Amino acid sequence: MGLSTDPVRTLADLERQSFPGTALAVLGHPIQHSLSPAMHNAALAEMARTNREFASWHYDKFEVHPDDLPGALDLFHARGFRGLNLTVPHKVIAFTHLKPAAPAVRMIGAVNTLLRREPVGWEGYNTDGYGLAMGVREDLGIALGDSPIILLGAGGAARGAGAECLLRHCASLWIANRTRAHLDALLAVLRPLAGEVLPHGFDPQTPPADLPAGALVINATSAGLRPDDPPPVDLTRLPRPAGVYDMIYNPPQTRLLRQAAALGVPHANGLSMLVHQGAKSLEIWSGVSAERTAPTMLRAARAALASA
Ligand code: NDP
Repeated sequence: MGLSTDPVRTLADLERQSFPGTALAVLGHPIQHSLSPAMHNAALAEMARTNREFASWHYDKFEVHPDDLPGALDLFHARGFRGLNLTVPHKVIAFTHLKPAAPAVRMIGAVNTLLRREPVGWEGYNTDGYGLAMGVREDLGIALGDSPIILLGAGGAARGAGAECLLRHCASLWIANRTRAHLDALLAVLRPLAGEVLPHGFDPQTPPADLPAGALVINATSAGLRPDDPPPVDLTRLPRPAGVYDMIYNPPQTRLLRQAAALGVPHANGLSMLVHQGAKSLEIWSGVSAERTAPTMLRAARAALASA
């Protein structure tokens, strides 16, 4: 079931079709469910009302296998694309082929936004951390800086989230993950960013007694994507959190969020993160501020989800 009716393009389409105007795209595998074209094209239409330059901008989604990504990046550049978003599983793969723009991107080791550079190449950015920080602040009124954080997961999303929390000087960072080896690898990656706050790891089945009360719990695992997934942690085994933010937005309420609701803990899903990371990407490509386009993107994302 597709979430949006936007057509899925392929590299064969890129070779034989023209993409007139200013072209943007998201690349992923699979990509069918991406809400990004609906969000970006709604924002571009709104931007075009006050600046006709944006009337010729358009955003498409492309199915690109990871083996094809290096060649695809050259091809999108040759076809004149201005910007690209990268989603699963390309964020880390692309990092090895690019010149990251910001030191934070180098530390995170993953990119989700590419800006065309002339005459060749792409500059890499990562707007996921910004999206998370904005989403948590907007939905839960919690700032990542100064807050104790309990982060669930050790994949790409957890890596970006952990780095963002440390760079924003969270009060403490505890990370739980099902597979200990993945957790240890993440802790090793994050330690150079740590400063005063050393990240700790724990087994989600046996949370330690000294976890902080009043923490923000962030789910960056995929547990919850399917309705029968167990929650990544039992909230009753943690000191009462200040809030729970689940990066998953479809389904809109995971078992983790239902438990937070039952316990009366403020909670939110990851739709706001998706919207704010997208708005920041569009700011990088267009110069139009993310704060301006985010409300339009949110309306478009909600409409696409509702029509699914
Ligand atoms: P990865 O595949 O890189 O990592 C998956 C993580 O989930 C690993 O830590 C894995 O643990 C854990 N996991 C998977 N299944 C289970 C389970 N049944 N029980 C417990 N843990 C589990 O994925 P990403 O990091 O890229 O994405 C993680 C989630 O974040 C996804 O749901 C994705 O949709 C969401 N996301 C949302 C964004 C937004 O804008 N809202 C942006 C980016 C991601 P293990 O190491 O043991 O395998």
